Amino acid sequence: MKKKAAIKPTCDYCYKPLEDEELENPYIGENDEPVCDDCWREKHQFLCPVCQGYHDEQPEGETFFFITSDAGKEQGMLPGIYRANRFPFFRGALGGLGPSYIEEDNVSLVSSSILHISSEGGEEIEADFICGGCVQAYIAVDAEIAALQ
Ligand SMILES: [Zn+2]
Ligand SMILES: [Zn+2]
Repeated sequence: MKKKAAIKPTCDYCYKPLEDEELENPYIGENDEPVCDDCWREKHQFLCPVCQGYHDEQPEGETFFFITSDAGKEQGMLPGIYRANRFPFFRGALGGLGPSYIEEDNVSLVSSSILHISSEGGEEIEADFICGGCVQAYIAVDAEIAALQ
């Protein structure tokens, strides 16, 4: 009897064979084909530096980012948390979110909370994406502070 060769489906992005767990409930990439967990994370998710969780990238109106005082000074913007109402909201997409490239007309300030978050290397993160859950937590704190005044 001839043995049938077991052909494992591969990730549509990196062509790595998919693990059994990944095949059970695979992420579907841009070409409607399964992609591996690593590629999904890299291409379609971001790490929120506040809660340290991975979150799916969000569309216009549901994408949030923060800038620190220093980054805000450079940009001529108030520090805090902003919502991206329209894409693109920053220029120079290469190299990540550069504080000097924010398109001010396409964003609005949703919280004046100033975040102090360090990267793994210990440097302060001047600007980064933040997840919707963390934004809501900061907005709730804003409301509490406002209620005390
Ligand atoms: Zn992959
Ligand atoms: Zn978060």
